[in-house]
Amino acid sequence: MNVGESLPFLAALVTLLLGLAIGKAWERYKLRDGKWIDRRRARDSHHYVLGLNFLVSNQIDLAIEELSRAARVDSDALEIHLILGNVHRERGQVARAIQVHQALLQRAKLTKVEHAYILLCLGLDFKRGGFVDRALAAFNEVIRMDPTNQYALLYLEKLHEEQHQWADAHRIRTQLVDLSGPDTQPRNQAILGFLENELGKEALSVGDRGRAQRHFQAAIEQEQDTTPAYLNLGDVRFIQGDLQGAEAAWDGLIARSPERAYLTFERLERLYEQLAQPHRFEERCAKLIAANSQDWRARLAMGRHMAARGKDADAFEFLLAALEQNPHGLTVHQAVWNVLLKLDLNRALVQRYIEAARSSVFFLDPHVCTKCHYRSTDLLWQCPHCHEWNSFVEERIAPAKEATVDM
Ligand SMILES: [Zn+2]
Repeated sequence: MNVGESLPFLAALVTLLLGLAIGKAWERYKLRDGKWIDRRRARDSHHYVLGLNFLVSNQIDLAIEELSRAARVDSDALEIHLILGNVHRERGQVARAIQVHQALLQRAKLTKVEHAYILLCLGLDFKRGGFVDRALAAFNEVIRMDPTNQYALLYLEKLHEEQHQWADAHRIRTQLVDLSGPDTQPRNQAILGFLENELGKEALSVGDRGRAQRHFQAAIEQEQDTTPAYLNLGDVRFIQGDLQGAEAAWDGLIARSPERAYLTFERLERLYEQLAQPHRFEERCAKLIAANSQDWRARLAMGRHMAARGKDADAFEFLLAALEQNPHGLTVHQAVWNVLLKLDLNRALVQRYIEAARSSVFFLDPHVCTKCHYRSTDLLWQCPHCHEWNSFVEERIAPAKEATVDM
Protein backbone atom coordinates (compact mmCIF):
# COMPACT_ATOMS: atom_id res chain seq x y z
CA MET A 1 0.00 0.00 0.00
CA ASN A 2 1.55 3.33 -0.92
CA VAL A 3 1.25 6.54 1.02
CA GLY A 4 -1.40 8.00 -1.27
CA GLU A 5 -3.68 5.05 -0.68
CA SER A 6 -3.06 4.60 3.02
CA LEU A 7 -3.64 8.20 4.13
CA PRO A 8 -7.41 8.40 3.56
CA PHE A 9 -7.73 4.96 5.09
CA LEU A 10 -5.82 6.05 8.18
CA ALA A 11 -7.94 9.16 8.45
CA ALA A 12 -11.09 7.04 8.30
CA LEU A 13 -9.68 4.73 10.92
CA VAL A 14 -8.95 7.61 13.24
CA THR A 15 -12.51 8.87 12.97
CA LEU A 16 -13.81 5.38 13.50
CA LEU A 17 -11.76 4.91 16.62
CA LEU A 18 -12.55 8.29 18.12
CA GLY A 19 -14.72 6.31 20.46
CA LEU A 20 -11.65 4.77 22.09
CA ALA A 21 -10.51 8.07 23.54
CA ILE A 22 -14.00 8.54 24.87
CA GLY A 23 -13.86 5.07 26.34
CA LYS A 24 -10.87 6.15 28.37
CA ALA A 25 -12.66 9.16 29.76
CA TRP A 26 -15.65 7.00 30.46
CA GLU A 27 -13.52 4.41 32.24
CA ARG A 28 -12.38 7.00 34.76
CA TYR A 29 -15.96 8.04 35.32
CA LYS A 30 -17.17 4.54 35.84
CA LEU A 31 -14.27 3.76 38.14
CA ARG A 32 -15.22 6.66 40.32
CA ASP A 33 -18.73 5.37 40.22
CA GLY A 34 -17.50 1.95 41.30
CA LYS A 35 -19.06 0.02 38.42
CA TRP A 36 -15.96 -0.91 36.53
CA ILE A 37 -16.50 -4.67 36.73
CA ASP A 38 -19.50 -4.41 34.40
CA ARG A 39 -17.48 -2.49 31.90
CA ARG A 40 -14.65 -4.95 31.89
CA ARG A 41 -17.03 -7.67 30.81
CA ALA A 42 -17.52 -6.01 27.47
CA ARG A 43 -13.96 -4.86 27.05
CA ASP A 44 -12.55 -8.25 28.00
CA SER A 45 -14.85 -10.15 25.67
CA HIS A 46 -13.03 -11.47 22.63
CA HIS A 47 -15.77 -9.93 20.48
CA TYR A 48 -14.52 -6.46 21.29
CA VAL A 49 -10.88 -7.23 20.47
CA LEU A 50 -11.85 -9.13 17.35
CA GLY A 51 -14.05 -6.26 16.25
CA LEU A 52 -11.20 -3.78 16.58
CA ASN A 53 -8.89 -6.14 14.70
CA PHE A 54 -11.35 -6.40 11.84
CA LEU A 55 -11.64 -2.61 11.80
CA VAL A 56 -7.89 -2.21 11.52
CA SER A 57 -7.74 -4.71 8.66
CA ASN A 58 -10.63 -2.87 6.99
CA GLN A 59 -13.05 -5.83 7.16
CA ILE A 60 -15.97 -3.67 8.11
CA ASP A 61 -18.81 -6.18 7.97
CA LEU A 62 -17.02 -8.59 10.27
CA ALA A 63 -16.12 -5.68 12.57
CA ILE A 64 -19.78 -4.69 12.86
CA GLU A 65 -20.73 -8.27 13.66
CA GLU A 66 -18.20 -8.64 16.46
CA LEU A 67 -18.74 -5.17 17.91
CA SER A 68 -22.50 -5.74 17.95
CA ARG A 69 -21.91 -8.94 19.92
CA ALA A 70 -19.63 -7.10 22.34
CA ALA A 71 -22.32 -4.45 22.74
CA ARG A 72 -24.85 -7.12 23.65
CA VAL A 73 -22.55 -8.47 26.38
CA ASP A 74 -22.74 -5.05 28.01
CA SER A 75 -25.42 -2.79 26.61
CA ASP A 76 -24.05 0.01 28.79
CA ALA A 77 -20.72 0.10 26.96
CA LEU A 78 -20.79 3.59 25.56
CA GLU A 79 -17.64 3.50 23.47
CA ILE A 80 -18.67 0.33 21.65
CA HIS A 81 -21.93 1.94 20.56
CA LEU A 82 -20.07 5.08 19.56
CA ILE A 83 -17.68 3.08 17.39
CA LEU A 84 -20.53 1.06 15.93
CA GLY A 85 -22.30 4.27 14.97
CA ASN A 86 -19.09 5.55 13.40
CA VAL A 87 -18.67 2.35 11.40
CA HIS A 88 -22.23 2.69 10.08
CA ARG A 89 -21.46 6.26 9.04
CA GLU A 90 -18.25 5.31 7.27
CA ARG A 91 -20.15 2.62 5.36
CA GLY A 92 -22.59 5.29 4.21
CA GLN A 93 -25.47 4.19 6.47
CA VAL A 94 -25.91 7.69 7.80
CA ALA A 95 -29.48 7.34 9.08
CA ARG A 96 -28.43 4.32 11.11
CA ALA A 97 -25.42 6.16 12.52
CA ILE A 98 -27.55 9.15 13.52
CA GLN A 99 -30.03 6.81 15.18
CA VAL A 100 -27.30 5.07 17.21
CA HIS A 101 -25.66 8.30 18.32
CA GLN A 102 -28.90 10.09 19.12
CA ALA A 103 -29.94 7.13 21.29
CA LEU A 104 -26.71 7.52 23.25
CA LEU A 105 -27.50 11.18 23.88
CA GLN A 106 -30.70 10.11 25.63
CA ARG A 107 -28.82 8.22 28.30
CA ALA A 108 -29.04 9.48 31.84
CA LYS A 109 -25.94 10.49 33.79
CA LEU A 110 -23.70 11.33 30.84
CA THR A 111 -20.59 13.23 31.84
CA LYS A 112 -19.73 16.42 30.02
CA VAL A 113 -16.90 14.68 28.18
CA GLU A 114 -19.14 11.84 27.05
CA HIS A 115 -21.84 14.24 25.97
CA ALA A 116 -19.35 16.27 23.93
CA TYR A 117 -17.93 13.22 22.19
CA ILE A 118 -21.32 11.81 21.27
CA LEU A 119 -22.25 15.19 19.83
CA LEU A 120 -19.00 15.23 17.88
CA CYS A 121 -19.81 11.85 16.32
CA LEU A 122 -23.32 13.05 15.59
CA GLY A 123 -21.89 16.14 13.92
CA LEU A 124 -19.81 13.88 11.68
CA ASP A 125 -22.93 11.90 10.80
CA PHE A 126 -24.75 15.09 9.81
CA LYS A 127 -21.75 16.26 7.81
CA ARG A 128 -21.57 12.95 5.99
CA GLY A 129 -25.29 13.08 5.26
CA GLY A 130 -25.01 16.62 3.89
CA PHE A 131 -27.00 18.24 6.72
CA VAL A 132 -24.62 21.18 6.97
CA ASP A 133 -26.62 23.34 9.38
CA ARG A 134 -27.16 20.51 11.82
CA ALA A 135 -23.48 19.54 11.61
CA LEU A 136 -22.47 23.15 12.30
CA ALA A 137 -24.83 23.27 15.27
CA ALA A 138 -23.45 20.00 16.67
CA PHE A 139 -19.79 21.02 16.37
CA ASN A 140 -20.51 24.45 17.86
CA GLU A 141 -22.28 22.80 20.75
CA VAL A 142 -19.25 20.56 21.35
CA ILE A 143 -16.99 23.62 21.44
CA ARG A 144 -19.37 25.37 23.81
CA MET A 145 -19.08 22.42 26.19
CA ASP A 146 -15.38 21.87 25.62
CA PRO A 147 -13.65 24.95 24.14
CA THR A 148 -10.36 23.09 23.64
CA ASN A 149 -11.81 20.23 21.60
CA GLN A 150 -9.48 20.26 18.61
CA TYR A 151 -11.44 17.66 16.66
CA ALA A 152 -14.56 19.76 16.76
CA LEU A 153 -12.63 22.89 15.81
CA LEU A 154 -10.99 21.09 12.92
CA TYR A 155 -14.24 19.74 11.52
CA LEU A 156 -15.91 23.09 11.99
CA GLU A 157 -13.12 24.78 10.07
CA LYS A 158 -13.46 22.29 7.20
CA LEU A 159 -17.22 22.85 7.08
CA HIS A 160 -16.75 26.60 6.88
CA GLU A 161 -14.15 26.16 4.16
CA GLU A 162 -16.53 23.99 2.17
CA GLN A 163 -19.18 26.71 2.52
CA HIS A 164 -16.62 29.39 1.52
CA GLN A 165 -17.15 31.07 4.88
CA TRP A 166 -13.53 32.18 5.00
CA ALA A 167 -13.75 34.56 7.93
CA ASP A 168 -15.22 31.83 10.14
CA ALA A 169 -12.62 29.33 8.96
CA HIS A 170 -9.87 31.85 9.70
CA ARG A 171 -11.21 32.58 13.17
CA ILE A 172 -11.29 28.87 14.02
CA ARG A 173 -7.82 28.22 12.63
CA THR A 174 -6.56 31.03 14.89
CA GLN A 175 -8.13 29.25 17.85
CA LEU A 176 -6.44 26.02 16.77
CA VAL A 177 -3.09 27.83 16.57
CA ASP A 178 -3.50 28.90 20.19
CA LEU A 179 -4.24 25.33 21.21
CA SER A 180 -1.52 23.55 19.27
CA GLY A 181 2.18 23.18 19.88
CA PRO A 182 5.11 24.77 18.04
CA ASP A 183 5.61 21.71 15.79
CA THR A 184 2.42 22.52 13.88
CA GLN A 185 3.48 26.14 13.36
CA PRO A 186 4.56 25.91 9.68
CA ARG A 187 1.38 24.12 8.64
CA ASN A 188 -0.78 26.56 10.56
CA GLN A 189 0.93 29.52 8.89
CA ALA A 190 0.42 27.99 5.48
CA ILE A 191 -3.29 27.48 6.15
CA LEU A 192 -3.74 30.97 7.59
CA GLY A 193 -1.94 32.39 4.56
CA PHE A 194 -4.31 30.73 2.13
CA LEU A 195 -7.36 31.69 4.19
CA GLU A 196 -6.18 35.33 4.14
CA ASN A 197 -5.85 35.05 0.38
CA GLU A 198 -9.43 33.79 0.14
CA LEU A 199 -10.60 36.69 2.30
CA GLY A 200 -8.85 39.03 -0.11
CA LYS A 201 -10.60 37.44 -3.09
CA GLU A 202 -13.90 37.78 -1.27
CA ALA A 203 -13.29 41.49 -0.61
CA LEU A 204 -12.36 41.93 -4.24
CA SER A 205 -15.58 40.29 -5.39
CA VAL A 206 -17.58 42.95 -3.55
CA GLY A 207 -15.36 45.69 -4.95
CA ASP A 208 -13.47 46.53 -1.77
CA ARG A 209 -9.98 46.82 -3.21
CA GLY A 210 -8.43 48.40 -0.12
CA ARG A 211 -9.52 45.56 2.12
CA ALA A 212 -8.53 43.04 -0.55
CA GLN A 213 -4.99 44.45 -0.65
CA ARG A 214 -4.69 44.29 3.12
CA HIS A 215 -5.70 40.64 3.12
CA PHE A 216 -3.29 39.73 0.32
CA GLN A 217 -0.49 41.51 2.15
CA ALA A 218 -1.40 39.79 5.40
CA ALA A 219 -1.35 36.45 3.57
CA ILE A 220 2.21 37.04 2.41
CA GLU A 221 3.30 38.25 5.85
CA GLN A 222 1.70 35.18 7.39
CA GLU A 223 3.42 32.77 5.02
CA GLN A 224 5.80 33.77 2.25
CA ASP A 225 4.86 30.74 0.16
CA THR A 226 1.26 31.86 -0.38
CA THR A 227 1.93 32.18 -4.10
CA PRO A 228 -1.54 33.30 -5.30
CA ALA A 229 -1.50 36.21 -2.83
CA TYR A 230 1.42 37.82 -4.72
CA LEU A 231 -0.43 37.43 -8.00
CA ASN A 232 -3.67 38.83 -6.60
CA LEU A 233 -1.95 41.70 -4.82
CA GLY A 234 -0.21 42.66 -8.06
CA ASP A 235 -3.48 42.39 -9.99
CA VAL A 236 -5.31 44.77 -7.62
CA ARG A 237 -2.49 47.30 -7.77
CA PHE A 238 -2.36 46.99 -11.54
CA ILE A 239 -6.11 47.71 -11.82
CA GLN A 240 -5.64 50.73 -9.57
CA GLY A 241 -2.89 52.04 -11.84
CA ASP A 242 -0.12 51.36 -9.33
CA LEU A 243 2.20 49.75 -11.86
CA GLN A 244 5.28 49.91 -9.68
CA GLY A 245 3.43 48.31 -6.81
CA ALA A 246 2.17 45.57 -9.11
CA GLU A 247 5.69 44.86 -10.32
CA ALA A 248 6.94 44.74 -6.74
CA ALA A 249 4.30 42.16 -5.81
CA TRP A 250 5.12 39.91 -8.76
CA ASP A 251 8.84 40.40 -8.07
CA GLY A 252 8.17 39.10 -4.61
CA LEU A 253 6.76 35.89 -6.05
CA ILE A 254 9.72 35.38 -8.36
CA ALA A 255 12.21 36.01 -5.56
CA ARG A 256 10.46 33.59 -3.25
CA SER A 257 9.55 30.81 -5.69
CA PRO A 258 11.41 31.19 -9.01
CA GLU A 259 10.03 27.84 -10.17
CA ARG A 260 6.59 29.45 -10.26
CA ALA A 261 7.76 32.63 -11.93
CA TYR A 262 5.86 31.65 -15.09
CA LEU A 263 2.62 32.59 -13.33
CA THR A 264 3.70 36.23 -13.60
CA PHE A 265 4.78 36.13 -17.25
CA GLU A 266 1.59 37.34 -18.94
CA ARG A 267 1.15 39.95 -16.24
CA LEU A 268 4.69 41.31 -16.55
CA GLU A 269 4.43 41.32 -20.34
CA ARG A 270 1.29 43.45 -20.10
CA LEU A 271 2.90 45.71 -17.51
CA TYR A 272 6.04 46.43 -19.55
CA GLU A 273 3.91 46.89 -22.63
CA GLN A 274 2.00 49.58 -20.78
CA LEU A 275 5.27 51.16 -19.63
CA ALA A 276 6.53 51.00 -23.25
CA GLN A 277 9.54 49.01 -22.06
CA PRO A 278 9.07 45.59 -23.66
CA HIS A 279 12.80 44.86 -23.52
CA ARG A 280 12.49 44.55 -19.75
CA PHE A 281 10.42 41.42 -20.21
CA GLU A 282 13.23 39.83 -22.17
CA GLU A 283 15.67 40.83 -19.43
CA ARG A 284 13.43 39.06 -16.95
CA CYS A 285 13.36 35.87 -18.94
CA ALA A 286 17.11 35.96 -19.57
CA LYS A 287 17.73 36.29 -15.85
CA LEU A 288 15.52 33.31 -15.04
CA ILE A 289 17.18 31.19 -17.73
CA ALA A 290 20.61 32.09 -16.41
CA ALA A 291 19.54 31.12 -12.90
CA ASN A 292 17.99 27.81 -13.95
CA SER A 293 19.15 26.14 -17.16
CA GLN A 294 16.09 23.84 -17.13
CA ASP A 295 13.54 26.64 -17.09
CA TRP A 296 11.68 25.82 -20.30
CA ARG A 297 8.80 28.15 -19.48
CA ALA A 298 11.05 31.21 -19.41
CA ARG A 299 12.51 30.09 -22.75
CA LEU A 300 9.04 29.59 -24.21
CA ALA A 301 7.93 33.03 -22.99
CA MET A 302 11.10 34.60 -24.36
CA GLY A 303 10.65 32.86 -27.71
CA ARG A 304 7.02 33.91 -28.07
CA HIS A 305 7.81 37.45 -26.99
CA MET A 306 10.57 37.74 -29.59
CA ALA A 307 8.48 36.12 -32.31
CA ALA A 308 5.68 38.62 -31.65
CA ARG A 309 8.24 41.37 -32.27
CA GLY A 310 9.56 39.94 -35.51
CA LYS A 311 12.77 38.52 -34.05
CA ASP A 312 11.97 35.09 -35.45
CA ALA A 313 15.48 33.66 -35.79
CA ASP A 314 16.34 34.48 -32.17
CA ALA A 315 12.91 33.23 -31.08
CA PHE A 316 13.57 29.89 -32.77
CA GLU A 317 16.74 29.32 -30.72
CA PHE A 318 14.92 29.88 -27.44
CA LEU A 319 11.99 27.71 -28.43
CA LEU A 320 14.25 24.88 -29.55
CA ALA A 321 16.07 25.05 -26.21
CA ALA A 322 12.67 24.98 -24.45
CA LEU A 323 11.75 21.89 -26.47
CA GLU A 324 14.92 20.13 -25.37
CA GLN A 325 13.96 20.73 -21.75
CA ASN A 326 10.34 19.76 -22.18
CA PRO A 327 9.65 17.68 -25.27
CA HIS A 328 6.19 16.78 -23.88
CA GLY A 329 4.97 20.36 -24.13
CA LEU A 330 2.48 20.71 -26.93
CA THR A 331 2.52 24.50 -26.49
CA VAL A 332 6.27 24.46 -27.16
CA HIS A 333 5.83 22.52 -30.39
CA GLN A 334 3.08 24.88 -31.49
CA ALA A 335 5.26 27.91 -30.81
CA VAL A 336 8.11 26.33 -32.79
CA TRP A 337 5.85 25.65 -35.77
CA ASN A 338 4.49 29.18 -35.70
CA VAL A 339 8.01 30.54 -35.97
CA LEU A 340 8.97 28.00 -38.62
CA LEU A 341 5.97 29.06 -40.72
CA LYS A 342 6.94 32.70 -40.35
CA LEU A 343 10.39 31.71 -41.61
CA ASP A 344 8.81 29.98 -44.65
CA LEU A 345 9.73 26.53 -43.30
CA ASN A 346 13.42 27.17 -43.61
CA ARG A 347 14.85 23.73 -44.43
CA ALA A 348 17.83 23.89 -42.11
CA LEU A 349 15.71 24.99 -39.18
CA VAL A 350 13.02 22.36 -39.78
CA GLN A 351 15.84 19.82 -39.88
CA ARG A 352 17.12 21.04 -36.52
CA TYR A 353 13.62 20.85 -35.06
CA ILE A 354 13.26 17.26 -36.23
CA GLU A 355 16.66 16.39 -34.78
CA ALA A 356 15.81 18.01 -31.45
CA ALA A 357 12.45 16.26 -31.27
CA ARG A 358 14.04 12.93 -32.13
CA SER A 359 16.77 13.18 -29.52
CA SER A 360 14.18 14.35 -27.00
CA VAL A 361 12.39 11.05 -27.29
CA PHE A 362 15.42 9.55 -25.63
CA PHE A 363 14.66 11.50 -22.46
CA LEU A 364 11.05 10.43 -22.41
CA ASP A 365 11.65 7.10 -20.64
CA PRO A 366 8.36 5.94 -22.12
CA HIS A 367 8.43 2.49 -20.56
CA VAL A 368 6.99 2.41 -17.11
CA CYS A 369 6.56 -0.43 -14.64
CA THR A 370 2.88 -0.84 -13.80
CA LYS A 371 3.82 -2.24 -10.42
CA CYS A 372 6.23 0.37 -9.00
CA HIS A 373 6.31 3.14 -11.67
CA TYR A 374 10.00 2.61 -12.37
CA ARG A 375 10.87 4.24 -15.72
CA SER A 376 13.12 2.97 -18.42
CA THR A 377 14.10 4.02 -21.94
CA ASP A 378 14.11 0.40 -23.08
CA LEU A 379 11.42 -2.18 -22.81
CA LEU A 380 12.54 -4.52 -20.02
CA TRP A 381 11.17 -7.92 -19.22
CA GLN A 382 11.91 -7.73 -15.55
CA CYS A 383 11.77 -4.60 -13.47
CA PRO A 384 15.18 -3.83 -11.95
CA HIS A 385 13.44 -2.02 -9.11
CA CYS A 386 10.62 -4.30 -7.94
CA HIS A 387 11.71 -7.44 -9.84
CA GLU A 388 8.26 -7.98 -11.32
CA TRP A 389 8.18 -9.83 -14.63
CA ASN A 390 6.64 -8.39 -17.76
CA SER A 391 5.33 -5.36 -15.91
CA PHE A 392 6.34 -2.62 -18.38
CA VAL A 393 3.90 -0.74 -20.57
CA GLU A 394 4.70 2.01 -23.00
CA GLU A 395 3.30 5.23 -21.63
CA ARG A 396 1.19 7.26 -23.99
CA ILE A 397 1.39 10.94 -23.42
CA ALA A 398 -1.99 12.55 -23.00
CA PRO A 399 -2.75 15.60 -25.15
CA ALA A 400 -1.60 18.71 -23.35
CA LYS A 401 -4.21 21.12 -22.11
CA GLU A 402 -3.62 24.74 -21.28
CA ALA A 403 -3.39 24.58 -17.52
CA THR A 404 -5.70 26.96 -15.76
CA VAL A 405 -4.75 27.94 -12.27
CA ASP A 406 -7.39 29.16 -9.88
CA MET A 407 -5.84 32.05 -8.06
ZN1 LIG B 1 8.72 -2.04 -10.83
